[in-house]
Amino acid sequence: MAQYDVYIDEAAVRKAEKQFRDAARNGKEAMGLLLGNVFHSDGSEFVHATDYVTAPNDSTAVSVRFTRQAFSELSGKIRGKGLIVAWAHSHPGYGCFLSSTDMATQHRYFSEKFHFALVMDPTRREGSAMLKRAFRLKDGGYEEVSFAVVRKRG
Ligand SMILES: [Zn+2]
Repeated sequence: MAQYDVYIDEAAVRKAEKQFRDAARNGKEAMGLLLGNVFHSDGSEFVHATDYVTAPNDSTAVSVRFTRQAFSELSGKIRGKGLIVAWAHSHPGYGCFLSSTDMATQHRYFSEKFHFALVMDPTRREGSAMLKRAFRLKDGGYEEVSFAVVRKRG
């Protein structure tokens, strides 16, 4: 029984948050990939993201992409660690949503049903955590998906 659409291990979230905070200090966006698996239970499907990987970014205050060289570096980091289940990127100071560029990225590279996009704003907090939202493509637009950050015991 999946209570949430998406589960993300806290360690993976922390890696992304650190990268996003560091980039935001330089006034820049940042991005990376979430790796994990897709599970089926009782007719529902949920995703468990277990790791976060990144490689050199080419970014400004309002845009980010991987450099050309990043892709070979990434393929080595991804091998043996499951599926790419999502991309994560930051919107420093302007909240969590998918821009039209983000939508194009989602359509082009993350169009499987299980793929999601995680967007964080490193300048804003929600409770004690960095503000973050998860989204999936839906019809011509996108929708928010529910997620839980899970902590390993001990
Ligand atoms: Zn964006």
